[in-house]
Amino acid sequence: MQIAIGQLSQESNTFNPLPTTRENFEQFGVVRGADILSQMADTNELGGFIQSLRAWPERPEIIGLARLMAWPSGMATSETFDWLRGELLEPLRRRLPVDAVLLSLHGAMVADGASDVEGEILRSVREAVGPRVPVVATLDLHANVTALMAASADALVLFHTAPHIDVFETGQRGARVLRRILVEGAKPQTAFCKLPMVVPAEAANTQDPASVSYDLRRRLQALEQLPDVLAAGLAPVQPWLDIPELGTSVVVVADGRRDIAETHCRELAAEVWRRRREYLPELVPVEAAVRRAHERSEGLVVLSDSADATTSGAPGDSNWVLRELLKYAWPRPALVPMVAPDVVSAAEGLGIGAELTTPLGGVRDREFSRPMEVTAKVERLFDAKFILSGHLAKNLPIDMGRSAVLAVGDVRVLITSRSGPHFAPQFFQAAGFDPYSASVLVAKSPCGFRAAYQDHASEIMVVRAPGCAPSDFWNYEYRRIPRPLWPWDEIARSPLAP
Ligand SMILES: [Zn+2]
Repeated sequence: MQIAIGQLSQESNTFNPLPTTRENFEQFGVVRGADILSQMADTNELGGFIQSLRAWPERPEIIGLARLMAWPSGMATSETFDWLRGELLEPLRRRLPVDAVLLSLHGAMVADGASDVEGEILRSVREAVGPRVPVVATLDLHANVTALMAASADALVLFHTAPHIDVFETGQRGARVLRRILVEGAKPQTAFCKLPMVVPAEAANTQDPASVSYDLRRRLQALEQLPDVLAAGLAPVQPWLDIPELGTSVVVVADGRRDIAETHCRELAAEVWRRRREYLPELVPVEAAVRRAHERSEGLVVLSDSADATTSGAPGDSNWVLRELLKYAWPRPALVPMVAPDVVSAAEGLGIGAELTTPLGGVRDREFSRPMEVTAKVERLFDAKFILSGHLAKNLPIDMGRSAVLAVGDVRVLITSRSGPHFAPQFFQAAGFDPYSASVLVAKSPCGFRAAYQDHASEIMVVRAPGCAPSDFWNYEYRRIPRPLWPWDEIARSPLAP
């Protein structure tokens, strides 16, 4: 029994002007063939696949195709998409026939000229293996699931959590669904429901009992316990995609009975639609948020700069929060991450202890931020290299390149050469700080950061500031999305009405 596995994972943000290229994937680390089995066996979805498949009594031969991952950023170039497709499809074609294909995809990747990258990848895989070979794919909860994806795969298995703390486990669930199809003879029937709605990510916390997402997550997990349900998923898509098929999706895969899949899918979708307003978050204007943080002298205040979240594909060099932080004195460091490769080079050129006057921020994204001139001391130079676990990852190696800590009064700007998880405690630790003992920590993440800070922070605020990943996205200009679409448009009639 031969099972091909692979991964293509990148979340695109069509407001970020920086294109995603082959170089971004190569820098993150392309892994091919048997190296996937040796290097990724305890990492993310691929680790879940590999450990599950190795535990099958049938001991299938696992064929590694390619692991292709890049940090969230702007849409990919068309050459990059062609290259990615070749990296997955060529090794698959060389090893045909296989008994099954198990893929880890993100589901919200967009390339120039291709608004549904994962749908096209799944269609190509289906064409390569033919109609009878099981194809199972896992997806991020922020996927923009499409009819093409649902039609091309036998089953789509989605993360259940945001913060994404079930990445590895979703790999295991994907392998379990494949086993039921391939070994136990299940006949997957997929029901797919697209809702004309898009919700902010900030309040969609599946781990917070006060959030609508908590109830929906428990419902999905209960559905997957039913003997005739193979997989149940809800994808409240990430909103920063100006594409024709944008919308929230519900996917239910049942064994043998389409009517069962359809019934569960419609019931779930009806609840999501009915409760859509509960997703609207409470935002604090940046000036007020920083003032309130300053009034609290005790404990850690975490400010989510969600509009510039590098986990949402924003460029990571907004200076709106930094500008406010610099107006105050802080009892302990105020930690602000930023992506600025030129500033890192300048700091390295001057050396530790030197004084540096430089424009900061508003370079990678010039539309929502303007450079501000800062005079700072070069306090530290470091490699932003660490292993990420927690939200988004299990044992995922991260390398954001050469980095510098600039000190401006009590504010510490942590500047990296490349984008990455600018929220992770491991990142602040790599820069030499204890993130939990700071006065203020700026997390460039809309929701997932809560997994790391909920138990440590005296207060968490989501800041309202401009950026490429805004929470109030419906106030920004979109040209290609389907209309009507809530909350751009009020929709009186239920989209699920017969
Ligand atoms: Zn996500």
